[in-house]
Amino acid sequence: MMTKIKNATEILAMRESGQILATILKHLGSEVKPGVSTKDLAVIAKRELSALGGEAPFLGYQGFPDVICISLNDEVVHGIPSPSRIIYDGDLVSLDFGVNYRGMITDSAVTLIAGKPKDKNHSQLLKYTKASLVDGIAVVKDGVRVGDIGAAVQSVLDKQGYGIVRDLVGHGVGHQLHEDPNVPNYGRKNSGPWLSAGMTIAIEPMATMGSEKVMLDPDHWTVRTRDHSMSAHFEHTILITETGSEVLTELDVASE
Ligand code: MG
Ligand code: MG
Repeated sequence: MMTKIKNATEILAMRESGQILATILKHLGSEVKPGVSTKDLAVIAKRELSALGGEAPFLGYQGFPDVICISLNDEVVHGIPSPSRIIYDGDLVSLDFGVNYRGMITDSAVTLIAGKPKDKNHSQLLKYTKASLVDGIAVVKDGVRVGDIGAAVQSVLDKQGYGIVRDLVGHGVGHQLHEDPNVPNYGRKNSGPWLSAGMTIAIEPMATMGSEKVMLDPDHWTVRTRDHSMSAHFEHTILITETGSEVLTELDVASE
């Protein structure tokens, strides 16, 4: 099944939803520092979201207990914020946040290093995972196929020798947090479902410095690398247009 073409009203709401998300993520990024707990960050996210008139699509999603996922180091995604989870100097901190504004959902993630990087390879992991997202977005336009996006993302990550997590993928987004189709971070050009202008999707490469294999923690949420290698995650919600795309979860320069 294809993700639905959004109408003008829905797109307007998604633009605002994405700007709220980008505003909060940017602020949260500045609060990521050694000594802060992951719950401290979640509390800020919750407060700002309600101040800006949004709701939290993650809260209660399949039972998820908080408004944001915060995953450290070898944790890939879906970490549960906790007051006892303290961020240390050099930690890789992935913030994955969603916003529901007037019924329309956007989804975005970023990975940052708290304080000073421990290893320059960690900075490289962040740099190239983000670059793979940029390259994935760059091929999007009316008529693109899901495999074209996956191939573009994969090509950047393969060149660095990173593991590409396969158990988790990008997705359609808008009315629901996860809509069809799946958008994997690997694939072949000219394969998979066709996408059209007016569709909204989340592209979200998850890369590791080791194996692509992941496992689930006993908390039934936290996904981490099996070999405990470091991991990074970047995500944007984008609107597909006739000639390209609009990144809905990137802060408008005019509003900064
Ligand atoms: Mg997300
Ligand atoms: Mg997502």
